[in-house]
Amino acid sequence: MTEAIQRVLGDRWTYLRIVYLLLAFPLGTTYFVLLITGLSVGVGLSIIGVGLVILALTVVGWLFVARFERELAIHLLGASVRPFSLPGEALRPWPRLLKTLGEPTTWKALAYLLLEFPFGIITFTLTIVLLSISLAFIAAPFAYLAQVLFGPSQIQVGPGFTLFPNNPPFGGEFLLAVAIGALGVVLGVGSMALLSGIGWAWGRFAEQMLGVDPSRLQLAAAEAEAASQRRRAERADHSRRELIVNASHELRTPIASISAHVESLQKPEREMDAESHQYLGVIETETKRLSSLVDDLLVLARADADELRLTVGSVNVAEVVAGITTAMAPLARQERNLSLVHTSDPEVPLALADPARLGQVIANLIRNAVNHTPDGGIITVTTQADPDSVIVSVADTGIGIEPHDLPRIFDRFYRADQSRARDSGGSGLGLAIVRELLTAMGGSITAESTVGSGSTFRIRLRKAP
Ligand code: ADP
Repeated sequence: MTEAIQRVLGDRWTYLRIVYLLLAFPLGTTYFVLLITGLSVGVGLSIIGVGLVILALTVVGWLFVARFERELAIHLLGASVRPFSLPGEALRPWPRLLKTLGEPTTWKALAYLLLEFPFGIITFTLTIVLLSISLAFIAAPFAYLAQVLFGPSQIQVGPGFTLFPNNPPFGGEFLLAVAIGALGVVLGVGSMALLSGIGWAWGRFAEQMLGVDPSRLQLAAAEAEAASQRRRAERADHSRRELIVNASHELRTPIASISAHVESLQKPEREMDAESHQYLGVIETETKRLSSLVDDLLVLARADADELRLTVGSVNVAEVVAGITTAMAPLARQERNLSLVHTSDPEVPLALADPARLGQVIANLIRNAVNHTPDGGIITVTTQADPDSVIVSVADTGIGIEPHDLPRIFDRFYRADQSRARDSGGSGLGLAIVRELLTAMGGSITAESTVGSGSTFRIRLRKAP
């Protein structure tokens, strides 16, 4: 019993909740009057525009009050209410208001504020009645004593109880007064426990009505986590690209220096035994390979960083292709006895491209064709007009590409036949670069192949306006 009394009286939440129950009446009444007036006047006058302003002010007011009530529920009722709104992107006032109106918490908060009016009336009355009866009962023995000591007449203690202290003091009436006092204590403690319970229950209700849904909170937390991971990944990606760009730049100088020194050593006036000459030849080949690998990496890193500086304009594609094929035909014949021919539609419209980069793309495709076509084969480069584009095909009569390799040949570092490709000096970056360059020009590339018969690479460029 005493333990229960101690628990009720010793808990600060009991007092804070009773304070809230008393406050709920004036607060609830104020909210009710202001909200109902604001909403009805706002809706009534909405036709003439002023109403919309009143409505907007009412909404802003109710959101403010809802936040205030959330604080009261936390600090006076001991409720653990989730945040009122999710942290969101910064919006302008009007869109933010519209977005807020779409939130379920906004409307739950309105219901809460309106319900606080009847709740406040009931709890205020209950609190006042219960506490005043209890206090009056508790006061009974003191009043009796005061009467005995200071006054001759009868005294009224609590509603309906009249004591007659003119009888001998500390007799039956005193005992009755003490019993009433004790009853008052029990009633007081019981009332406080009851009121605290009501406050607690209202606090739980506030948790439901004034905080965002836990699922939405979890979703928002997951989204925030995903966004931060995305930012981290972007930062990591950025620094990786920077590293490749910087490393490639730095590597160019020593490579150029090695090339220059090899060149000096190879000068005919220098005397050198055959073996050393052969070693120098290997160094020269490998240095060239390293240099082109570094150049390729640089192009790809720039493409990733959207820093490929292309000069895209209207280009006569047939002319560019003819220039490259003419330059490479002797090489093809010399290396593999291959015929490199160029055919073009008579009227090919201008296409959107960077002429130098387009030349690089065509040369790369021809070089691949030369590398993968056995002696005596034919490489045909064709320029054709299409309704909206210009198409350049590079077809060979080479070894072809296995169907399972075909979808991957544009991947970085992918080589269909690892051992042979390495011999050909390829790094597997050529087609990846070709695709990046064409994409940057607004074009595209596809490949078809039949093992044993040959491959065809088809470039599509946008027609110039
Ligand atoms: P690489 O530097 O190895 O030539 P590419 O990216 O240019 O790299 O080509 C990727 C792979 O595609 C090559 O290793 C090769 O196996 C295959 N390939 C490319 N062009 C042809 C072709 N014309 N005929 C057969 N295979 C080809």
